[in-house]
Amino acid sequence: MKIAILSRNENLYSTRRLKEAALARGHQIDVIDTLHCYMDITSNNPSVRYEGRQLPAYDAIIPRIGASITFYGTAVVRQFEMMGTFSINESVAISRSRDKLRSLQLLSRKGIGLPKTGFAKHPDNISDLIENVGGAPVVIKLLEGTQGIGVVLADTEKAAESIIEAFMGLKANILVQEFIKEAGGADIRCLVIGDKVVAAMKRQAAAGEFRSNLHRGGTAEIVRLSKEERATAINAAKVMGLRLCGVDILRSSRGPVVMEVNSSPGLEGIETATGKDVADLVIQHLEKNARPNATRTKGKG
Ligand code: ADP
Ligand code: MG
Repeated sequence: MKIAILSRNENLYSTRRLKEAALARGHQIDVIDTLHCYMDITSNNPSVRYEGRQLPAYDAIIPRIGASITFYGTAVVRQFEMMGTFSINESVAISRSRDKLRSLQLLSRKGIGLPKTGFAKHPDNISDLIENVGGAPVVIKLLEGTQGIGVVLADTEKAAESIIEAFMGLKANILVQEFIKEAGGADIRCLVIGDKVVAAMKRQAAAGEFRSNLHRGGTAEIVRLSKEERATAINAAKVMGLRLCGVDILRSSRGPVVMEVNSSPGLEGIETATGKDVADLVIQHLEKNARPNATRTKGKG
């Protein structure tokens, strides 16, 4: 097959591993810098151009779109979809996953376990908002944060009110969420490919920290999933329309609850913690599933 990875930097661990895995399985692979792609969308023969030439027809693309380039990155993926190229994750699904509120709304519609979550624009109903998710302590999140930045734990009602007021004053979009204390600063990252969880790790927050992000000093180890956790992760991926994703779950007293679904999951942490060759499994998935004009959404929401 002829495969392209859309990535800003070919030295990043995940990009490097995917390239190695594709080569090892006898495929041709190009790493293309997403922001240097440009598009011809006026003609009825859509194409993507790169470094002064039209890109060849690929059998599949693997988009690795960072959160800071979602708008342009998804436009590039959409352009490939218009050309009939198979993308392991569709542009619409990537856009959905980048908005925590939109993701939670989609997941709740399908009855997937979630932390109780509220969202509001105006400061006149803050106390009801806090009460509705079970009262303090609550977690307050910026809608488009990543790597734990923009996620705050408010211990008391007073603290929660002033943090929410401050965020609202800055016109930031926020979620107010039930704090799952019993998770003990740990979450479970389930790496889903197609309809399978191929690897799972438990991330534990550093001492004195409730956020388990590896970027915030968390540590990771392999974990055995319960049947319910496995089914929850697979369902969440399906609802989001993602074939490759990381589903983050908290172990709550009422069962697994999904915190977020990441459409460009990093491979380094999970391959190191589990010893699984996830990159090879991604390429195997493309071998079995990549075919032209298979995009379900065709760029439509
Ligand atoms: P980000 O996108 O920045 O990673 P998350 O929503 O994943 O934001 O939150 C970061 C971390 O904070 C999570 O990995 C988890 O450890 C912790 N956390 C987030 N929400 C909750 C919650 N409702 N209850 C308990 N811990 C939470
Ligand atoms: Mg997270």
